[in-house]
Amino acid sequence: MPTYTPPVADTRFVLDQVLKLDRFSNLPGFQSATPDMVEAILDQGGRFCADVIFPLNHDDASVTTPKGFKDAYKQLAEGGWIGLAAPEEFGGQGLPHVVATAFEEYLISSGVAFAMYPGLSQGAMAALHAVGSDAQKALYLPKMVTGEWTGTMNLTEPHCGTDLGLIKTKAVPNDDGTFAISGTKIFISAGEHDMAGNIVHLVLAKLPGAPEGSKGISLFIVPKFLPDADGNPGTRNGVVCGSIEEKMGIHGNSTCVMNYDGATGWLLGEENKGLAAMFIMMNAARLGVGLQGIGIAETAYQNAVAYAKDRRQGRALTGPAEPDNPADTLFVHPDVRRMLMEAKANLEGARALILWGALQNDLSHHAADEADRVAADELLGLVTPVIKGYLTDLGYQIATNSQQVFGGHGYIREYGMEQYVRDARIAMIYEGTNGVQAMDLVGRKLPRHGGKAAMALFGLISADIAEAKDGPQAELAGHLEKAVGQLQAGAMWLMQNGLKDPNNAGAAAYPLMTMMGIVAIGWMWLKMARAAQAQIDAGEGDKAFLEAKLITARFYAERVLPDAGALRRKLEGGAEAVMALPVEAF
Ligand SMILES: Cc1cc2nc3c(=O)[nH]c(=O)nc-3n(C[C@H](O)[C@H](O)[C@H](O)COP(=O)(O)OP(=O)(O)OC[C@H]3O[C@@H](n4cnc5c(N)ncnc54)[C@H](O)[C@@H]3O)c2cc1C
Repeated sequence: MPTYTPPVADTRFVLDQVLKLDRFSNLPGFQSATPDMVEAILDQGGRFCADVIFPLNHDDASVTTPKGFKDAYKQLAEGGWIGLAAPEEFGGQGLPHVVATAFEEYLISSGVAFAMYPGLSQGAMAALHAVGSDAQKALYLPKMVTGEWTGTMNLTEPHCGTDLGLIKTKAVPNDDGTFAISGTKIFISAGEHDMAGNIVHLVLAKLPGAPEGSKGISLFIVPKFLPDADGNPGTRNGVVCGSIEEKMGIHGNSTCVMNYDGATGWLLGEENKGLAAMFIMMNAARLGVGLQGIGIAETAYQNAVAYAKDRRQGRALTGPAEPDNPADTLFVHPDVRRMLMEAKANLEGARALILWGALQNDLSHHAADEADRVAADELLGLVTPVIKGYLTDLGYQIATNSQQVFGGHGYIREYGMEQYVRDARIAMIYEGTNGVQAMDLVGRKLPRHGGKAAMALFGLISADIAEAKDGPQAELAGHLEKAVGQLQAGAMWLMQNGLKDPNNAGAAAYPLMTMMGIVAIGWMWLKMARAAQAQIDAGEGDKAFLEAKLITARFYAERVLPDAGALRRKLEGGAEAVMALPVEAF
């Protein structure tokens, strides 16, 4: 059976030494995030995840949640873990997102199917908070923050997932200001379950006479039970779970077909502006899905490391490493090391990137001046498709490589590794497929405001490179500088050739997203290496941990950053060969 230990020391290194959260102690939320408080959250939260959630991460599926989920959910809710970053006025703890994100990684690592229940609530709460009326917020948020009620997002229909302009679900106005919602939604995560007193569905639907396409979509609150005058669950609403999907992974999370038959709904936000409201929820959810990528991969990686230390096969190429044993451990083989080092370097870098992204989320709300809030918001918008797309690609790759370390034993159920591969696969698909994330990056995020966010990001990276160039991290800075150059050249090619032929932009999108992910994680490695070096020079910290950071940074520089060059050449090949073959020739 797999095991899991929350990587608390690594999280603390990123929060304390790399992001230096104490710099923000004057901002709302951060005041309570004292080092002691953060330490308590990570230690207690990590223990809760490892002791209570992780043992439940087996593969049962049902609308009645698997044995143990209900009690664990009650503990999660009562412990206040769901509302860590929710505003205090609605019963949350008002802590920074960057701290809540650190905890959520442990929750996902302990059981992604379980973690999705509170995860979907958080997306729904983000939309309610951003566009809900005061009355809607007062009715729903306190119950969702405490976990008494959960939330869902209902976008997908049988004939449309990516192209939501095609949705058919209808919202007909009732005389009392509510709406009658009718239609079928599919693939709705956490659409039905037995862990909460009510389920608050946020549903995309069209009003009569609404404009065609995505400009005519509105968002509605459709609770499973209609709240009574006191705000408690009352009459059953006209929405039922028609069936649950039999799927490849995340079996412990219900994926439901939801049938709406004249269900009572309330408009959330403005008429025909539903997609914009839904995007608030989706942006929060996209970061959450990026976190799923690395959260699942972390557990797979930890178990691959344990197996490689234990399993003995063959001899080191340089001669027996342990002649007294009949064979050496898997760790002597460079090819096994390749998989484990790639996993370690990408995971630790991705953890830093996602925590940096969560910090931008906090700064976009709470930074002292408007210009800093806008800058943080734009940086976050730019990296969101990269965090969702690239980090979930990495998560799957790390999960299969960790399985590979087990050889045939990774393929059979007994060791639990094949579950991580199956669980990691969905993160590349939902919340907008990774191809769609790449299109969002090149079509919307990069060109936005004349490329201002991209220039700001490049400016930040260049400043760190310039500071590192004459110091002990000069070599790493040099590798990163080359990769940034490849990325900038790729983006320039895209700007010049994407307009000439839009298929060039479509064909270049994925390699560009990947390059940007590689560079962003490389940037985090430069920051981490410099922070580790500073602690070593000051004679502080755990020397072995810090030296491992320097060696892993070097691995990333030499074995991952060079991929940016090949991706640039691929990108500059343009769309011709991609689009040339007639459909009949396939
Ligand atoms: C387990 C699970 C849970 C889910 N949970 C939810 C949920 O809670 N709520 C919800 O609303 N939905 C949910 N979904 C739906 C999920 O978000 C969609 O499946 C996903 O967005 C893709 O839509 P689709 O399946 O219709 O694929 P399609 O849109 O048909 O896409 C098929 C392929 O074409 C590509 N493609 C489509 N359009 C374009 C384009 N314009 N440019 C480039 N490529 C394109 C896609 O990338 C994909 O590879 C879930 C799905 C699963 C499997």
